[in-house]
Amino acid sequence: MLGPVILAASRSDRMRRLISAAPVTKQVVDRFIPGENVDEIVPIIEDLTGKGLELTMDVVGEDITTPGQAAAARDAYLELIDRLKPLELGTRAEMSVKLSMFGQALDGGHELALANVRPVVEAAAAIGTTVTLDAEDHTTLDSMFAIHEELRKDFPQTGCVIQAYLFRTEADARRLAASGSRVRLVKGAYKEPAEVAHQQKTEIDKAYVRILRTLMEGDGYPMIGSHDPRIVSIAQELARRAGRKLDEYEFQMLYGIRGEEHLRLAAEGHRMRVYTAYGTDWYGYFMRRLAEKPANLQFFVRSMLGNG
Ligand SMILES: Cc1cc2nc3c(=O)[nH]c(=O)nc-3n(C[C@H](O)[C@H](O)[C@H](O)COP(=O)(O)OP(=O)(O)OC[C@H]3O[C@@H](n4cnc5c(N)ncnc54)[C@H](O)[C@@H]3O)c2cc1C
Repeated sequence: MLGPVILAASRSDRMRRLISAAPVTKQVVDRFIPGENVDEIVPIIEDLTGKGLELTMDVVGEDITTPGQAAAARDAYLELIDRLKPLELGTRAEMSVKLSMFGQALDGGHELALANVRPVVEAAAAIGTTVTLDAEDHTTLDSMFAIHEELRKDFPQTGCVIQAYLFRTEADARRLAASGSRVRLVKGAYKEPAEVAHQQKTEIDKAYVRILRTLMEGDGYPMIGSHDPRIVSIAQELARRAGRKLDEYEFQMLYGIRGEEHLRLAAEGHRMRVYTAYGTDWYGYFMRRLAEKPANLQFFVRSMLGNG
């Protein structure tokens, strides 16, 4: 019940100002977003990869309003890639990007986002790694898939994300599986209307399993983006039935959520990639994490009250 309310609040400027300014917010934010800049995040990258985990790095920020901000977002990723170079992690540290942050919602946004993301994909390839395009709200997806297809002409390893809650996703999954893509499957984190998306958790979970089967049986590389223990074990079973080896799919979870499970899966020999977000424009990302789990919100509100 609370999830949609929080997701609506995540679009409100007034709430953004209120929550961002609250003194206690930072402590709660740190659980999910463990750094504000490259200097703070590099030791975390070294620590997590040293524990046998792989990473996908997200520079937070999505509601940009000028081409200059989109260019700054591109430059933030280029700076990160530059800092990753001497670590020689290859595909153990890849990048996740939101095209909205690269200008997708501005005038001429499709071309602008493509022009901004291409140098990031090129720079990632130059250090032996790759980029995955995150999925945002459903109105952005045709553009995202078109950019994905365009980038794959030169960089076939470029990945994309599909969301099980959307009705369109079963068809998207069949297309992407046949084309041999890297595809992260998630349940979906945005507030979507009933015309385009399942609203009930059981329906979303069932769709997730159907889509995952398509990906596992296809020619691509499935990336299972979920913390749900049932999804994790179903994924293992589907991979076994499809005859996939441990390095022919991977699990992905968010930094700060079920950390012990990250280590357990990695210790079992699975590829386990931790989605690690950093930066100062964390509001949208943080609010989606609150919406996913009421306990997070309770903890946040208690901290606010306790700390005045
Ligand atoms: C690597 C990765 C990348 C993602 N990329 C995208 C994207 O590009 N686009 C998009 O729309 N969504 C994305 N998401 C978010 C996703 O859509 C879901 O909102 C989120 O993963 C919660 O769903 P779940 O599969 O973990 O299952 P749920 O059924 O929601 O949760 C299962 C269990 O996981 C734990 N859990 C889940 N979420 C939280 C939380 N916030 N805090 C604490 N515990 C939690 C709880 O124990 C919960 O019972 C991504 C998720 C992951 C893991």
